[in-house]
Amino acid sequence: MKIPSLAEPARETPVIQECDVCVLGGSCTGVFAAVRAARLGLSVALVERMGSFGGVATLSLVNVWHSPYDEVFEKRIFSGLSVELMDRLKKRRAVTERERSPHWAWSFNAFEMQIELDELILENKITPWLHTAFASPHVEDGELKAVLVENKSGRGAIRARFFIDATGDGDLCQRLGLETYRGAHRQPSTTCALFGGWDSLDGLDWGKLLREHAGEYHIPHGFAWGALVPNSQLYMLAGTRVFQDCSDATGFTKAEMEGRRQVRAIQDILRKYSPEANVTLQGLPARIGIRETRHVRCLHQLTGMEVLNGQAFPDAIANGSYRVDIHHTDKPGITFRYLDGREVYCQPGLPELKSRWREETPTHPTFYQIPYRSLVPQGPYGNLLAAGRFIDADEQAHGAIRVMVNMNQTGEAAGTAAYLALKNQTAARNVDPQLLRRTLADGGSLML
Ligand SMILES: Cc1cc2nc3c(=O)[nH]c(=O)nc-3n(C[C@H](O)[C@H](O)[C@H](O)COP(=O)(O)OP(=O)(O)OC[C@H]3O[C@@H](n4cnc5c(N)ncnc54)[C@H](O)[C@@H]3O)c2cc1C
Repeated sequence: MKIPSLAEPARETPVIQECDVCVLGGSCTGVFAAVRAARLGLSVALVERMGSFGGVATLSLVNVWHSPYDEVFEKRIFSGLSVELMDRLKKRRAVTERERSPHWAWSFNAFEMQIELDELILENKITPWLHTAFASPHVEDGELKAVLVENKSGRGAIRARFFIDATGDGDLCQRLGLETYRGAHRQPSTTCALFGGWDSLDGLDWGKLLREHAGEYHIPHGFAWGALVPNSQLYMLAGTRVFQDCSDATGFTKAEMEGRRQVRAIQDILRKYSPEANVTLQGLPARIGIRETRHVRCLHQLTGMEVLNGQAFPDAIANGSYRVDIHHTDKPGITFRYLDGREVYCQPGLPELKSRWREETPTHPTFYQIPYRSLVPQGPYGNLLAAGRFIDADEQAHGAIRVMVNMNQTGEAAGTAAYLALKNQTAARNVDPQLLRRTLADGGSLML
C-alpha cells in the first residue's frame, strides 16, 4: 500500500554547532566514544534524544555489567572507561561487586550513574545535547557533512568532520540508505521495573509462579531475572517480554504500553498467588529495554562460530567473555552457550537442561574478540563509524557481544578511530588497526 505523503517546504536551518566529531546516541557506548575522542583533543558534540545519558543502563534500569575476566576468571580481558566508571561509582557507594559469577560482576545504582555520566561529559568538555533527536543526515556532494536534529528550540544542524552512530538502532546509517538487516529471530524487548517489598517473597519460587500463571495474564513465556539496587531494598526485575519492532514508531509505542501492562500483570500474579507477600511498584523505566532491532552491514560480519571458537583478530578492539545468550522468540526461555562447549537451556521455575554444542576438547578459548571491521559500515561514507548493538553480527554472535561492557569498548574504539582518521586524513576503513590498538592501549584499554 502506498503511504500518503506531503512535500515539506524548503527551509534554512541554523547550524547550532560545528565540531570535529558528532556522536549520536548517549548510552555509555556513545558517551565513551565522545570521551575518548575528547581526551585526544577533538571537539565533540553528543546528541541524546532522552533527558539523561546511559541508554539501557540508566533509562531502562538494566543495572548489571559483566566480568572484566575471561570465562574461567583467570585472565583480565578489559579495562578502560567501563572500569573507570565503576571505580567512580564505588566512591558513591553505588556499586555491588560479585566475583567469579557468569551472571554479573557489578550491579549499580542507575540514578547515580546518570549523574556520574553528566560529570564525566562536562569534565571532558564535550558539548551535550539532551532531549535532542537525530532526524536526518545532510549530504553535500556525496559527503556526509552534517546531521539535522530536533529539540525544544526547533530544527538545527550539527556540522562535523566525523560521525559516530551509537543510536542502538543505527538510525544514521539507515537514513543514509546503507544496507541494514534484521535477524530471523530478533531478541525481544523487556520493560524492567523497580519493586519494593521483594524480600517478602523470600522462600518462594517466584519464577515458577510467574511461569505457571503467565498464560492467565497473557504474558509470553520467557525468562525473568533481577538484581537488588545496591544499598537499597529496591529490586530491579526484568520479567516482561515484548516482541514488537522498536525501530518502528508504531511498534515502539505499542511495546512501551505492552511492557507496562506486563509489569502490572506480574504484580497481580504475585498478589493473587502469594497474598502474604507485599510487593509494590516503585519505578518504571524512561524507555523499554531494547535488545535488538536492525544491524548495519559492515566490512566484516562477526559470526557465532567466531565468537564461540574465540577467533583472534589482528584488528581486535574489544574482548568479551559473556556467554552466547539467546532469548528465544519461538519458544520460552533462553539458551546459554559457553566457550568451553557447554550449552544450558533455562526456563524460570524449571530445572536447567544441560547439553553440549561442541564435544569436549583438551583446551578451549576463554574469551572472544570483536574486530574493528565490524564497526565500519559498507558504503561511500568514509567519516562514519557504528558502535553499539547494531554493529555487524549474526544472531548468535549478537547474543554474546550485546552486553554493555562489550558495547562500551566498541564506543571507545569508535572515538579513538575517529581521532586517527581525522589526524591522518583517511577514511575509517583505512585506519591502521595496529595504530588503533596502540592508541586504545595508551588511553587505558587492554589490547590482547
Ligand atoms: C532487558 C534487557 C536486559 C539486558 N541485560 C543486560 C545485562 O544484564 N547486562 C548487560 O551488559 N547488557 C544487558 N542487556 C543488553 C544491553 O543493555 C544492550 O545491548 C546495550 O545497552 C546496547 O547498547 P547501545 O549503546 O547499542 O544501545 P542503547 O543502550 O539502546 O543506547 C542507544 C542510545 O541512543 C539514543 N538514541 C536512539 N535513537 C536516537 C536518535 N534518533 N537521536 C538521538 N539519540 C538516540 C537512545 O535514547 C539511547 O540512549 C540487556 C538489554 C535489555 C533490553
